[in-house]
Amino acid sequence: MSDCLFCKIVQKTIPAKVVYEDDRTLAFDDINPQAPVHTLIIPKEHVAAVQDCRDQNVNLLAHLLLTCTNVAKQKGLAGTGYRIVTNTGRDAGQTVFHVHFHVLGGRHLSWPPG
Ligand code: AMP
Ligand code: ZN
Repeated sequence: MSDCLFCKIVQKTIPAKVVYEDDRTLAFDDINPQAPVHTLIIPKEHVAAVQDCRDQNVNLLAHLLLTCTNVAKQKGLAGTGYRIVTNTGRDAGQTVFHVHFHVLGGRHLSWPPG
C-alpha cells in the first residue's frame, strides 16, 4: 500500500527505531510512547486491522503475538508484566490502518482502559 505509513516503515522510506525484524514482522518503538516501553509489532504484509484477518492470516497472527512476548522479554518486561493491545476501527481509536499490536509496560497500567 503506497499511502500506508507502516508500509513505508517496512520499506524503510520512513525511519523508525526498529527493535526486532524477521521475514514476516517488524517491531519498532512508538513515536508517542504512552508508557516507559511502548513498542509496535506489525506484519510486513499490509492488512488493515485484525477485523480484516481471515483463515489465511492465522499463522501470521500467532507469529505476531509470539513476537510481542519476545519483544517484551527483550525490553525487560517479563518479570513485571505488560499489556498487548490492538485497536480495531473507529470506536477503539485506531489511527493507523495497518495491523499492529502495542506492547506497553514499565509502569502500572490501569484497567479498564478509557
Ligand atoms: P492506533 O491508534 O492503535 O492505530 O496506533 C497507532 C500508533 O502509531 C500510535 O500509538 C502512534 O503514536 C503510532 N505512530 C504513528 N506514527 C508513527 C511513526 N512514524 N513511528 C512510530 N509510531 C508511530
Ligand atoms: Zn500498510
